[in-house]
Amino acid sequence: MHEMGIVSGILTASVESAARENATRINEIRIRVGELTEIVDDALHFAFEALSPGTLAEGATLVVERVPGRSRCVECGTTFNHGRFDVECPSCKNYFCELVEGRELEIESIDIDLPDGAEAGERS
Ligand SMILES: [Zn+2]
Repeated sequence: MHEMGIVSGILTASVESAARENATRINEIRIRVGELTEIVDDALHFAFEALSPGTLAEGATLVVERVPGRSRCVECGTTFNHGRFDVECPSCKNYFCELVEGRELEIESIDIDLPDGAEAGERS
């Protein structure tokens, strides 16, 4: 499953980042996933449940934020949102469009707990 590798990478990066802050645990990991990727939310959550136990992210919530597909028409410059299979300029019906957004896969923020006395905060 593709998502296992993705979640494994997200976990590694999150745990490293949290460890640098001396976090005691990770409460929430928020990621941005483009609509035009093949990534399935359920599979991400499944992989997270399978891989997070034993790490700082054990018990954390994985929040998946979907980013719609967005392209710019190379003919008239119109920028528009679209799904995976309907990339067509709404103004001039052109199919030659440059993708602006929709293929992202990134960590948006990590919410961590810090040891007593330290100030808790959200990091990007
Ligand atoms: Zn156009």
